[in-house]
Amino acid sequence: MMNVIETRKLTKSYGKYEALRGVDLTVKQGEVYGFIGPNGAGKSTTIRILLGMLRKDAGEAKLLGGDPWQDAVALHQRLVYIPGDVTLWPNLTGGEVIDFLGRLHGKINSSRRKELLGRFQLDPKKKCRSYSKGNRQKVALVSAFLSDAELLILDEPTSGLDPLMEQVFQECIFEVRKQGKTVFLSSHILAEVEVLCDRVGIIRQGKIVESGTLEELRHLTRTTVTVELDKPTNLKQLQGVHDVTQKDEKWRFSVDTNAVDAVMNALAPMGIKSLIAEPPTLEELFMRHYGDKHEGKELN
Ligand code: ADP
Repeated sequence: MMNVIETRKLTKSYGKYEALRGVDLTVKQGEVYGFIGPNGAGKSTTIRILLGMLRKDAGEAKLLGGDPWQDAVALHQRLVYIPGDVTLWPNLTGGEVIDFLGRLHGKINSSRRKELLGRFQLDPKKKCRSYSKGNRQKVALVSAFLSDAELLILDEPTSGLDPLMEQVFQECIFEVRKQGKTVFLSSHILAEVEVLCDRVGIIRQGKIVESGTLEELRHLTRTTVTVELDKPTNLKQLQGVHDVTQKDEKWRFSVDTNAVDAVMNALAPMGIKSLIAEPPTLEELFMRHYGDKHEGKELN
């Protein structure tokens, strides 16, 4: 399988400030990749290098097999990009912008255009200057989902959307994935990333600190267990068990992934009346890297 995006030891400084300190990224063809990290982590800098809008200092960056800087014009015919805050031509209507952007990628499928306008509830006849942030975002999304580009690079694409539209966005991403397209999604909405992404990369201070499928990432951390027992005995002493608390009949604790089997065996003779085991959420995984006071309060 081809890697659609590949960076190795990518670095970029703004003056003395090192924004990227060796970013290694691999995005495979046909996957939805979630790129997450709080403000200032280096997400936009990485994306701007991939788009050929910014020149890297060192390291390697490959996009669709080409060089983002040298081959920018050819590569841009094969991708669509949505920034977090979409700016449009104020004197054109939304429909005109959609048609203009659509023609850059070939012929427009008019029934698909109509369908997407309906799903995103966008009035294409209004001038762009009168659109809210959310509506500008919708214009960009309709254009992106209308195009036949093989790669979608989306930088906080749903920041202005209401929950109903978020749902439509998610459905569209699933459709795009079914068509075998690749999506690189930078988002601070971790629930969105959790639902949509095949693999996730977490960036912190210009470096990827974690990457893999959600399952792989979950293996790095603990499972939360809530259990009701007939005869609870020495739960705190079990190996791999942490943070034991009790409320009424219920005991709650976290278990190291490699100790789950042994802990379940130890619980069985205590008479299990009920048991819930929850894998860590993406938010919990994320906060392991950003749990200190100085970072991670803002995820976008
Ligand atoms: P993110 O997209 O994750 O919020 P950015 O890539 O925008 O992060 O920024 C990474 C770091 O580089 C931040 O500390 C930011 O302040 C700094 N930075 C970004 N753009 C510039 C610039 N044009 N000049 C100077 N510093 C910049």
